[in-house]
Amino acid sequence: MRLSRSFLPVLKESPSGAEVASHKLMLQAGLIRQTSAGIYAWLPLGIRVLRKIEQIVREEQDKVGQEMLMPTIQPADLWKESGRYDAYGPEMLRIEDRHGREMLYGPTNEDMITALFRDDVKSYRELPRMLYHIQWKFRDEVRPRFGVMRGREFLMKDAYSFDLDEAGAKVSYYRQLLAYLRTFKRMGIKAVPMQADSGPIGGKLSHEFVVLAPSGESEVFYDGKIEEVDLEREGLSYDDAEALETLFKEATGVYARTDETHEEQYWAEVPADRQRTGRGIEVGHIFYFGEKYSQAMGLKVSGPNGEIVPMMGSYGIGVSRLVGAIIEASHDDNGIVWPEAVAPFTVGVVTMRADDEATVAAADDIYKALTDAGVETLYDDRDERGGVKLGGMDLMGLPWQIVIGPRGLKDGVVEVKSRKTGERHELTVQDAIAKFAS
Ligand code: ATP
Ligand code: MG
Repeated sequence: MRLSRSFLPVLKESPSGAEVASHKLMLQAGLIRQTSAGIYAWLPLGIRVLRKIEQIVREEQDKVGQEMLMPTIQPADLWKESGRYDAYGPEMLRIEDRHGREMLYGPTNEDMITALFRDDVKSYRELPRMLYHIQWKFRDEVRPRFGVMRGREFLMKDAYSFDLDEAGAKVSYYRQLLAYLRTFKRMGIKAVPMQADSGPIGGKLSHEFVVLAPSGESEVFYDGKIEEVDLEREGLSYDDAEALETLFKEATGVYARTDETHEEQYWAEVPADRQRTGRGIEVGHIFYFGEKYSQAMGLKVSGPNGEIVPMMGSYGIGVSRLVGAIIEASHDDNGIVWPEAVAPFTVGVVTMRADDEATVAAADDIYKALTDAGVETLYDDRDERGGVKLGGMDLMGLPWQIVIGPRGLKDGVVEVKSRKTGERHELTVQDAIAKFAS
């Protein structure tokens, strides 16, 4: 993409009114603009990151479930059936259509998926199933803040599992646990599963996945041993219930809690040299709640010996929150430092002198070669000062920069810089191309 033809509005000054780094940087680097409190438009740079994250989530979910798409707008009747309509409170955006029917903008989809499943699944032979969708949600948060991290409209992946019995439901839960660990690892972040409050339902399983960052809303306490869990070891397959259970025990058997569930008494048992504390951002939540919705909404299937009420679980990932959370975990004084897997572009090409013919010719060649090879490249071809362009590239956080100027070209070289390490290397035009377009 050529910057001269793009809508990438980079702000010269750090915007006021944003409390945390990710919010500031997302505004300044032109990823988002607020259109109402807690509601954002995703500009061209931002949507590329959001789509990358969404795609990683999708690919990992496809290994354990099937994608579908439920609507954002739901009928209130479904929520009355499950008994949640009144309980949900002012976070729910309630709407009336022209016929006076009560509707709502969905904050989550347990009720709807239970109804859909109930209407079409009749036999125990059709279980277990795992379904997911990636859809916008609305929650009228009292205090939307931190940009997309606590928005009112936000993109969530939510999955739902249906099993014949508790043992099966636990395996579904373990599958998602592994899928989540792999998902976050692919994004280049460390997300620790922490024991969550199972709330009013009680007695069941619930874990939150928390990314460590100083600006996190919760305080976290965990045993460093959790970092040793190997997700790629041999024999760890989604089809092997025993291996999954072993992984579950390893990943959740060590102390890891937020301030909501923290207990000094157990924390004291963690060896001091393994105690890790800090702040964290919840990016995912997995939950096994059993018969709650199937019971309330009359979901049952015929079994070999009578009727069975399926056991359910739900599994959320905050896709849009992750954009902010990843920045919180990965930025410096100059801007964002994208992990390569979620970067909007892999390479930024910069001309130091837009009025120098040789510079522009070399940059055009590099841009064309990289683009032809499928390398996602942002080309700052604007007639701007070199320093301004370099500052913009650092702010946008692309993993690599290729900087082209008359001085280097005289010696036949361009400069390749790693955003993360700051290391620079002089390479010939051909070598610079070959480094990325292999
Ligand atoms: P929180 O405690 O942060 O309010 P939650 O526990 O209410 O979140 P869940 O119902 O577990 O959220 O939703 C699943 C995921 O959706 C969360 O783990 C989070 O990543 C994301 N999420 C929830 N609320 C928001 C929001 N207001 N803005 C952006 N993402 C959100
Ligand atoms: Mg939660």
